[in-house]
Amino acid sequence: MKTTAAFDGLVCTDCGERFDPESATHDCPDCGGLLDPRYDLSRIDLARDELETRPFDGLWRYEELLPLPRSAAVTVDEGTTPLVDCPELADELGVERLLIKDEGRNPTGSLTDRGHALAVSAAREHGASDVALATTGDAGQSAAAYAARAGLDSHAFVPTRANFGNKAMINVHGGDMNVVEGRFDDAAAACADALDDEDWYSTNPFKTPYRHEGAKTMFYEIVEQLDWEVPDGIVHPTGSGVGLVGLHKGATEFAELGLTDNLPALYAAQASGCAPIVEAWEAGDDSHEPWDVPDTICGGIEIADPHGSPLVLDALDDSDGGAVATDDESILDSAITVAQHTGVEMGASSAAAASGAWELAEQDVFGTDDTVVLVNGASANKEADILRSHLMGKGI
Ligand SMILES: [Zn+2]
Repeated sequence: MKTTAAFDGLVCTDCGERFDPESATHDCPDCGGLLDPRYDLSRIDLARDELETRPFDGLWRYEELLPLPRSAAVTVDEGTTPLVDCPELADELGVERLLIKDEGRNPTGSLTDRGHALAVSAAREHGASDVALATTGDAGQSAAAYAARAGLDSHAFVPTRANFGNKAMINVHGGDMNVVEGRFDDAAAACADALDDEDWYSTNPFKTPYRHEGAKTMFYEIVEQLDWEVPDGIVHPTGSGVGLVGLHKGATEFAELGLTDNLPALYAAQASGCAPIVEAWEAGDDSHEPWDVPDTICGGIEIADPHGSPLVLDALDDSDGGAVATDDESILDSAITVAQHTGVEMGASSAAAASGAWELAEQDVFGTDDTVVLVNGASANKEADILRSHLMGKGI
């Protein structure tokens, strides 16, 4: 496996053991815990002005802080998405600035492209022939695209409710799509069975160490786009929590490198019909209890049993952030408000972040001079039918 100079192994977030990324590919070989890429930051000489001289041309511009070099990249030019200023929303929320990090502008229209760029690159380096994952939809589309780029086969396990666009594009990219009756948990169980039987390389979040690792580049970009100002708060739509854990990691690394002074407060926004992270946060627990009966229109973030929850909850706690749940009606209203007031297209699942931000503002969590960033995890095109149905239902 080709690696970058400062990448010095995968550390188990449970037992603390360090492993060689050549041989350790997924869970901790000792205890089954989650593996996290780590760097010898003293070997990284990265100044603000050095980064500013580089073209804003995708996440590989942060090569020193990635496990694999650009020369080993499977890339479709992911990352460096726009950070859109939304002054009208800032006024409505009562904050100084409100910006939307529009991850819908990634190659397959979602944040998961960042993680799959790294995970599929690692898969190829490890000699895999096939990648596989369970997905609510977007990640399956992303995996199929990156596998196609790398010349690998892909296998996606999606619940019946996954949206048509995702299912169609998995096939269009040549992926093997397995539609599983039921919800995401059923798809995850079918995928786990297949991974037991086949010699496939999992790109499931927090199974591969590289999905959250790719997501961390979102923070690097946000802070550069804000001329090195760390936002006071970042609100993220949350299912598995990969994006939040990535943001926390990126913020921590930039602070340790002396590029920034502090961490942004990170907020997990979930739908109240499936909010295991919010429930655990409010109870003060270190990990979640699986949600019994998930039921939300936000299929993209309907993850009833997010096994990376300890890392997510730690990110919220360490950053002095929080977690918030809002109902489907509020989330859909928020998506429409954002679309009509700003022009930014936020799908139903991502609009949990907008709705959550409104709720946090009502709770007086934000100050009047705060800069707040909402992450739009995916293009609204994927869920346009859900938004339009809501609009029709309101007679608008
Ligand atoms: Zn371990």
